[in-house]
Amino acid sequence: MPKIVPIKILKTMKEEYEILKLGNPILRRTAKEVSKEEILSENIQNLIDDMWNVMEKAGGIGLAAPQIGISIQLAVIKLESSSDRYENLEDSEEFIIFNPELEVINPEKQGFWEGCLSVPGLRGYVKRPKKLKISYLNEKAEKKEVIVEDFLATVFQHELDHLFGYLYVDRLDSTKDLVFEDELVNITKDKILD
Ligand code: ZN
Repeated sequence: MPKIVPIKILKTMKEEYEILKLGNPILRRTAKEVSKEEILSENIQNLIDDMWNVMEKAGGIGLAAPQIGISIQLAVIKLESSSDRYENLEDSEEFIIFNPELEVINPEKQGFWEGCLSVPGLRGYVKRPKKLKISYLNEKAEKKEVIVEDFLATVFQHELDHLFGYLYVDRLDSTKDLVFEDELVNITKDKILD
């Protein structure tokens, strides 16, 4: 049974959201599942709009609710070809994801230099499975399934990790794969989307 999100808490949310950074304990919690009724509530529908706004303002390609201090299983993802933070992206559709389940279809791993709005200034080279099936509820509380591969597979795994208390830094093979963004340019640009 999914736990019910306390509406009271959402009603008192600040209008300006702050993106929580590595070290904040909320980022380490397993977020609560959201019921269908809650997904359709005005509070959650407004929260979805707010999340797109926060993500856009920060120049991200994905955002999970715990990153703005709301510990529920909700993430939004949209790859933008105009992104300043990532090169060579193709536009994706807008994904609004509640209560996801991940199933690895191709366990072969691929690596990308990941960044995170909660870990500003750094990039880490993380290898993750190439292809997955994601089952989730969308903003209309409808059951959805999507097959994701390549960079999108990494973005999904990164964002959905946030709902279960993980950050990409936990997925590094070695701390030697963690660098400052400014230094990454000196390593090689090719690796960013290899
Ligand atoms: Zn992140």
